[in-house]
Amino acid sequence: MSEAQHETWVEVDLAAIENNVRLAARGSQARIMAVLKANAYGHGAVPVARAALRAGAAWCGVARLDEALELRRAGLDCPILVLGPVPAGRLHQAVSEGISLTVFTPDHVQAAAAAGRAAGAEARLHLKVDTGMARLGIDPQEAVPLAQTIQAAAGARLEGMFTHFAQADEEESGPTVLQLRQFAEVLQAMDAGALRPEWVHAANSAAAATRPEAHFDLVRLGVAVYGLHPSAVCKLPDGYRPALSWKSRLVQVRRLPPDRGISYGHAYRTQSEERVGTALVGYADGFRRQPGNLALVGGRRVPVIGRVCMDMCVLQLDQVPEARPGDEVVLIGSQAGESIRAEEVAGRWGTINYEVTCGIGARVPRVYG
Ligand SMILES: *Cc1c(COP(=O)(O)O)cnc(C)c1O
Repeated sequence: MSEAQHETWVEVDLAAIENNVRLAARGSQARIMAVLKANAYGHGAVPVARAALRAGAAWCGVARLDEALELRRAGLDCPILVLGPVPAGRLHQAVSEGISLTVFTPDHVQAAAAAGRAAGAEARLHLKVDTGMARLGIDPQEAVPLAQTIQAAAGARLEGMFTHFAQADEEESGPTVLQLRQFAEVLQAMDAGALRPEWVHAANSAAAATRPEAHFDLVRLGVAVYGLHPSAVCKLPDGYRPALSWKSRLVQVRRLPPDRGISYGHAYRTQSEERVGTALVGYADGFRRQPGNLALVGGRRVPVIGRVCMDMCVLQLDQVPEARPGDEVVLIGSQAGESIRAEEVAGRWGTINYEVTCGIGARVPRVYG
């Protein structure tokens, strides 16, 4: 079906998304926030959000206001938290849409409260505490005064408090334990001042998988929802399934004579007579222009030869004598018992699985099943 309609496409298995959310829910007393930033890590935000909510997720988390608005426009009325700051000029819009905001300075709080008053609504605020990531957040000792500022501000309500781990996916647990201790101290001080909000959260997928004591009221799951491992040393438990496959097809298959240069720069030359095929996927789709790429054709791993072009690449098909134009090419996913995971592609590209799926181009259609 899809190959008849698209040059390259992503298939997202929504049953896998539901399965992964259910597994995570079973393993925790906490509620689940499905983290859907960057178009749900390339999987498509709205269909993934619906699947995650069906499977019991209570919250959606995004990085940008526009991502939150996309979910609202699709009719999703669940709680949504923007994990990063919302530009001051758009706070009114965010509050009007009932979107929860991350705050970490008194100025932020005042601006959000003013937006709440102007919108005739309450700005719901989550106080971000920096316990060691050193990226975004207020210092732990400033958290209680900021919470008091929120409590005193008409038009705002302290709905949540959270932190984010820098090394939860690593073997060395010391830094995460330290961050957790800092967070627990802040929480104690908030309790003492009767300031503790309804939603306390800290864990990403890695911490959710390895540290029950970091679950609190809500776990913020990104990669685990997609069935991707947090890291090589922090793997998901058995049962999680990758949801994304990335496919293309062969458009031309030929025998080339020896010493024929292939693709730009003739970086590859045929050594003997070789069978080659062209697939309609290139670096503009997110298939990186670097040596060493592989794909599946006819259930076998075949090398990409020569340079990856913007919209196409060439495969060496000597191992697949039966390959024909129209045949499916798998860049990520399974075919006839063989499979390539996003983690394997990430290894070849010197990056992480997150960047591989986020990097699949916006022009690549997402197909849901
Ligand atoms: C992206 C993100 C997450 C999800 O992280 P995963 O490692 O994908 O589970 C959680 N919290 C914050 C603040 C994030 O930015």
